[in-house]
Amino acid sequence: MKIYNSLIKKKEEFKPIKEKEVRMYACGPTVYWFAHIGNLRTYLFENLLRRVLNYNGYKVKLVMNITDVGHLTSDSDSGEDKLEKGAKKERRSVWEIAQFYTDFFKKDLELLNIDEPDVWVKATDTIDDQIELIKELEKKGFTYIISDGVYFDTSKLEKYGRLWGDSERSEMKGRIEEVKEKRNQADFALWKFSPKDEKRQMEWESPWGIGFPGWHTECVAMSVKNLGIPFDIHCGGIDHLFIHHNNEIAQAEAAYGKLLSNYWMHGEFLNLKDSKMSKSSGTIITLRTLKQKGVSPLAYRYLCLNNHYRSKLTYSEESIDFAENSLNKLYEKAFELSHSEETDYSEKYNKYKNDFKEYISDDLNIPGALAMTWDMLKDKELSDFEKHELLLDFDKIFGLDVASIKSEENDNSKYIIKIFKNELPVWTSNIEVLPQEVKLLIEEREEKRRNKEWEKSDEIRDKINKLGWQVEDSGDKTIIKQGLSI
Ligand code: AMP
Ligand code: ZN
Repeated sequence: MKIYNSLIKKKEEFKPIKEKEVRMYACGPTVYWFAHIGNLRTYLFENLLRRVLNYNGYKVKLVMNITDVGHLTSDSDSGEDKLEKGAKKERRSVWEIAQFYTDFFKKDLELLNIDEPDVWVKATDTIDDQIELIKELEKKGFTYIISDGVYFDTSKLEKYGRLWGDSERSEMKGRIEEVKEKRNQADFALWKFSPKDEKRQMEWESPWGIGFPGWHTECVAMSVKNLGIPFDIHCGGIDHLFIHHNNEIAQAEAAYGKLLSNYWMHGEFLNLKDSKMSKSSGTIITLRTLKQKGVSPLAYRYLCLNNHYRSKLTYSEESIDFAENSLNKLYEKAFELSHSEETDYSEKYNKYKNDFKEYISDDLNIPGALAMTWDMLKDKELSDFEKHELLLDFDKIFGLDVASIKSEENDNSKYIIKIFKNELPVWTSNIEVLPQEVKLLIEEREEKRRNKEWEKSDEIRDKINKLGWQVEDSGDKTIIKQGLSI
């Protein structure tokens, strides 16, 4: 398997420390607001990576943190704590908002078929480990104290900024603003003192005074505690490469004399047409916003599958519409193939299987694998049974719930219906599963459509939407989906 390693800025053969086992860390959400679909793109990339590793026979241990303290509004160590700021805005306690947005985040992951990590770890649950790490850095002479906290002296390290390429090195020099008393521009806070004139909701005793840990320190303590050092893969969004991840590497190198992780992988950003999508700028789209527009979360997953994780992706109504239509076509196809009769496997079948593995194992070329899947579905040399089997196999990576699409006995029904049973999607062609009120509206809408009364049929569609259902017409089929309540 080949992956792109940001440390050497090249694709290279992936070799884990222990054969067939991968220890992996992903920077988790800062839980002061809803995750936007940009954030979720990064978690989707990490989910794909984990699935591809599993597909290649690796056992993966994924650790993800919850940043519930210490992430400041500015990279320069001078801003406010995002959580404390969020709590003030919402007039709730920091602990309450952290819990609320953590729960919400987990729901988002579930809607996107992103499996939860093996270990969740909260920054506030590992304060002692972080203090120990800072003590170690102090013992080794890498720290100094100024009026607002304990800082890491980057000049003491032979090579600070291991993730920077030459162009980034000069760009970054100008980007890290000065905190007045800092010794070097790139130095960063390990422990910040609580402001004298203000009582913080989250603060702890430490050998240096009451305060809270720096964001970059948290991730080192949490990853090493759960994965040891070095571990195999550390991932996050591309914005973390420049400062956060360099600072993680610097601390681990200073404290333990080791590289924190052998591979560093970064997902590119999702942007809006003319602006960045960021929580701090307030221009965000969430899964809930998409749902209000009638877009299903898995259509967003499809959109991300169709774009390589190292390419920028611009979100637009057209791109999501295209993804939703393609996904519906895939479901129809899966539905159609689901009652095919068993046949032997041909050579072509094996070729597709091998090609698929090659695509996904080439630095997660999922868009290539998806395009190949469409070719496979059109291939006349394959039996329907083989196509269905391949589709089910590929969906171990895609995660689009194709396996749950099965036709009922009466498979000449014109309906493809998705309902949720115990929160799991179930597909059927049997209209009787719908609540009576929805079923009657669907039938009434069919009649209006037959009579070409489009306006009336749209009105009925709106009524159906209000009841929490979505209706889409696709060829000669009608797709009906139950919205998840978020
Ligand atoms: P945060 O909750 O701000 O700590 O960010 C969570 C994750 O989302 C991090 O890995 C970020 O790098 C990533 N991220 C932030 N904005 C975007 C974006 N517009 N597109 C993709 N990933 C993003
Ligand atoms: Zn992190």
